[in-house]
Amino acid sequence: MYHIMNNIIKIKKQITELSNKYSREKDSITLLAVTKTRSIEEIKETIKTGQKDFAENYLQEALNKINTINNPNVTWHFIGHIQTNKCKKIAKNFSWVHSVDSFTIAKKLNDYRPTDLPKLNICIEVKLEKNPQKSGVAPSESLPLCQSIMQLPNLKLRGLMIIPEPSPNLNSQRAKFRELAELQKKLQSNGIALDTLSMGMSDDYEAAIAEGATIIRIGRAIFGEKT
Ligand SMILES: *Cc1c(COP(=O)(O)O)cnc(C)c1O
Repeated sequence: MYHIMNNIIKIKKQITELSNKYSREKDSITLLAVTKTRSIEEIKETIKTGQKDFAENYLQEALNKINTINNPNVTWHFIGHIQTNKCKKIAKNFSWVHSVDSFTIAKKLNDYRPTDLPKLNICIEVKLEKNPQKSGVAPSESLPLCQSIMQLPNLKLRGLMIIPEPSPNLNSQRAKFRELAELQKKLQSNGIALDTLSMGMSDDYEAAIAEGATIIRIGRAIFGEKT
C-alpha cells in the first residue's frame, strides 16, 4: 500500500504549491481523507503517514471502522446524507458533521450530543442548483438556518460545505466555489461567525484552494479509483 503514502506526500506538496500560487496560508488548509468503501487496512496505513482527519458517508460502515480503529488521535467527520433516525449515533461518534441541511437535523444532533464531549462542529451543506433531488439548502435559506443553529448549545457552527455538479475546467469550477465564498462573506456580515469552507475533491481541489477552501475532502487522489 505504498501508493497511499506516495499520494499523501504528493497532495501535501501540491497544497503547499497551490498555497503559494494563490496567496493562501498553507496551514489554513486541512486535508480530509475520505474513506468511504475503503478498508480498515487502508485507513491504518493512512494514519501511519500522520494523517489525522478522516471522513465517512455511511453510518453503519463508519461505526464499524471507528470502533475497530479506536484511535483517539483520529478526528472523524461525517459527510454523507443524514436521515433523522441516524442523528443519535452521528452525534455520539463524530467530531464534525459537514452535511447539515435542515433545522430538524441540527436540533436532533444538538439534543443527542453528549454534554461531556466538546461541541459538535457543524457545516451547512449548500446547493447552488435548484435541483430537488440534491441535498443542501438554497443560499437564500442559509441565513435563517445559521441563526437558529447558533442558538443550539451543543453545536458549534463552523461553516459551509458544497458538492458542486462537475465542471469541465478550472474557471467554471472556481466560479461555483467563489459563490460559496461570497455567501460565507455575506453571512459573516450578518453577524454569523464562520471560519470554514469545506469544498474541493480529487478533481477540483485546485479551484477550491484558489477560492478559499479551508477543508478539502479527498478520496480517489489518495486511495486510487474504486475497483
Ligand atoms: C466521496 C466524497 C468525496 C471524495 O471524492 P473524491 O472524488 O474521491 O476525492 C468528497 N466529499 C464527499 C461529500 C464525498 O461523498
